[in-house]
Amino acid sequence: MEIRGIRRECLDTLRAVGNSQHPREFVAVLRETNGVIEEFDLAPGTVVTERSAGFSPEMMPLDVHTAGSAHSHPSGALRPSDADMRFFGRMGQYHLIFGPPYGEEDWRAFRRDGTPVFLEVIE
Ligand SMILES: [Zn+2]
Repeated sequence: MEIRGIRRECLDTLRAVGNSQHPREFVAVLRETNGVIEEFDLAPGTVVTERSAGFSPEMMPLDVHTAGSAHSHPSGALRPSDADMRFFGRMGQYHLIFGPPYGEEDWRAFRRDGTPVFLEVIE
């Protein structure tokens, strides 16, 4: 399924999660419905320490509606790390990174190869 965008409510909730977890990192799996990212699952066991970045794709609830991932960089660096790049290639089409202060502009979307990409916010 080609992803057309992300629902505003879903994006706002992800920002709120990022803010509530700060300075810890959160990781979530994004799920689409009819090509729109509508929901997410927080990945179990990934919200641990301030320097975690401990992705464990095996623990992710993968299914055919997996659109990609979302996670935060409490450092504020809105670009994929080397570990992120290895992770991105394993699932989904779009990968979102959030950073403080978790405002409307404090996130970026990337393709599996780490290329920044525009992701439409659907009201
Ligand atoms: Zn990262």
